Amino acid sequence: MAARPPAAKLHSHEDRACEPGQLAPISGIYHVVHDGHRQDHEVVAIRGEEFPLCRICQGNVQFHIAKVASHMTHDRDLAGSVFMIKAKRRAASKRTG
Ligand SMILES: [Zn+2]
Repeated sequence: MAARPPAAKLHSHEDRACEPGQLAPISGIYHVVHDGHRQDHEVVAIRGEEFPLCRICQGNVQFHIAKVASHMTHDRDLAGSVFMIKAKRRAASKRTG
C-alpha cells in the first residue's frame, strides 16, 4: 500500500537543522545560520548536495529549509532539452510531408 504520509511528516524537513557534511534532504532555499559572525542569509541547495563548512565558523553553521523548490530537471512535468524536442518535431513534420 502506497499510503500518503501524514501531513505532519511533510513538515519534518522544516524543523530539522542540517549541518556541514550532511546531504541536502530536499531541494530548495535554505536559511543559513552562522555562529554570530554574520547575518542569517539564504542559499539554494539541490537534494543530495553536501552542506559545506563555513570558512569562519567551520562546523557551527546550520541550514534550515526555508522554501522547498524542485530543481527544474527533477520536476515530473519538465522533461528533456528544448533542442531535442524541436529536433523531434522537425523529424515528425518531414515524415508527414
Ligand atoms: Zn559562518
